[in-house]
Order: sequence, then structure tokens, then C-alpha cells
Amino acid sequence: MALPLTERPNIQYRGRFAPSPSGLLHFGSLVTALASYLDAKANNGVWLVRIEDIDPPREQQGASKAILDALEAYHLFWDETVLYQSQQSKLYEQVLDYFAQHQQSYYCQCTRAMIKVQGGIYQGHCKQLNNEKAGSGTRLINQYPAIDYQDLIQGKVVCDPALAKEDFIIKRKDGLYAYQLAVVVDDIFQGITNIVRGCDLLEPTARQLTLYQTFGYTPPQYAHVPLIVTEEGYKLSKQNKAPAIDVNSPQKSLIAALHVLGQKPPKELHDLSCQALIDWAIKHWSLDKVPKVAELVWRE
Ligand code: GLU
Ligand code: ZN
Repeated sequence: MALPLTERPNIQYRGRFAPSPSGLLHFGSLVTALASYLDAKANNGVWLVRIEDIDPPREQQGASKAILDALEAYHLFWDETVLYQSQQSKLYEQVLDYFAQHQQSYYCQCTRAMIKVQGGIYQGHCKQLNNEKAGSGTRLINQYPAIDYQDLIQGKVVCDPALAKEDFIIKRKDGLYAYQLAVVVDDIFQGITNIVRGCDLLEPTARQLTLYQTFGYTPPQYAHVPLIVTEEGYKLSKQNKAPAIDVNSPQKSLIAALHVLGQKPPKELHDLSCQALIDWAIKHWSLDKVPKVAELVWRE
């Protein structure tokens, strides 16, 4: 059985924004979307949008369409058809079959509570047993732990070695595909060369690098933009009820997002149309100016 995924030659920059439809686009996700868009366009690249709808219980009705509408309202137009992860199950299953046949994964019945007792890091309890029972999860045999990597904004990122070595879940006990698996499979499937996304994914990147190594493919370049945090220090997110961005007057939020990204838009820009602002931002985009940590704290 051959690997059902082929690596594309990296002849052109291909970036993407990959929101989960668990809520509307808020200011933090606008910063991420804008950064990935600008980096792609400043590099004459292609920019894609992928809806990561693999977790139906966390999905908010109508959110996918609202996210796409908001991106259009901000003139962040994608270059190819939107990919929905809910349409990719066949490919994920083929990859899981491939791992199973090549002894690169095993079934696991352990509960969260059992793993907690063992110190919170999975110790490979089911590796020898490899029992396939209804309600099992699947773990990857981690042959290529990624302890550190180079990030274009954050510099050298060092991960917790114990976590990096863990045999992690690639299919959950509830039958849902793990984010780590789906994201890497689709980034390879779509030929993504550069990933610009929020710093909340700095640690999970280690697992994604492990998956690239397992496939034997070249990983993309990573650039993790700073997160916008609330006054209490929490990440601005759908979970803490961050308000949706205003789709009727995008200029104000765009300028604020450019400030967060260290691009220092001059005052004269304030009267420009949305498209003119975006054009200015592409022309002046510099990844080197993006700060590691955001200065802006979100206040309601
Ligand atoms: N779907 C993920 C999220 O909304 C982002 C995935 C990624 O950019 O790799 O948090
Ligand atoms: Zn187990």
C-alpha cells in the first residue's frame, strides 16, 4: 500500500488561513488571517482558506459562511476553492490505514484519568496490546520527536521533550480525527509551503513536525504571530466571547490589526478604502517587523 499523499514540488509560495467554525471571526483571528494573507501576497504567493470543520459538537451553526463573508468584507480574497475538512474523511482514513499497515500506529483504550495518574504524559501502555475494540483511539508511534524548531517570528522554539516524545492521538476515541492529523494531511494535500498562524499553536507544531518526518516530507516554514490577550491574560477567543469583527467598517480594524503586526500604518491611511489599505499593506509588509508578543490588550 502506497502513501495516499504526494508531496508537491515547492515551486511557489502557498499559504493558508484555516479557521475552525466554532464561532465568528474576532479581532485575534483577523490578525492571523491578515498576516497569512499579507505574507503570501508580498511573496507573490497563493493564499487559500480551509474550513477546519472536523469537530461537529464544537461547530456553531452558520459560522463557516459568516467567516467567509467577513474575509470578503475585509477584501481578503482567496485564490482557490475553499477546502472543507469535513469532505476529507476518506483521505484521513487512507492515511490511518497506511499507518496501521506499516506498524506506525496502535489502538488505545486509555482514558484521560488513567493518563493523568501516570503523570499526564502517555507512556505507551497500549503499544504492545494493540487491541482494536469499538471506541478505541489511535496513537502514532512517535519515531521522530521534534524537540525544537526555527520559527520565522519567534526564533528557536523549544518544546517540552516529554510531550514531544509522546505517542500522540491521531484519531480520537469518539471517532473524530485529531487536529494534528487533519492539519498536516491537508497542508500536504494543498501543497502549503508557509504557515502563518497564532502563537497558541507553537507547541502543537512539534507534533506536526513529527508527522511530516513520519511521512518523509519537507515541512512548511512556520511563522507564529502574537496572540491578542484579554486583560486577564487569556487569549482572545471564541470561547471567551470575543466580539465578532465589524464587517461594515473594516478600515478601523484593519489599521488596528496592522499596528499589532508591527507594520506601523501612517496616519494618512485612515481615509483610504479597504482595498487601498490592503494594497499598501502588501507593498510594505515585513515579517521582520512582527513582534513576538502583542502590545495590545483587548478591552471590551
Ligand atoms: N483550525 C485552527 C484554529 O482555528 C487553526 C489551525 C492552523 O492554523 O493550523 O485554531
Ligand atoms: Zn492506551
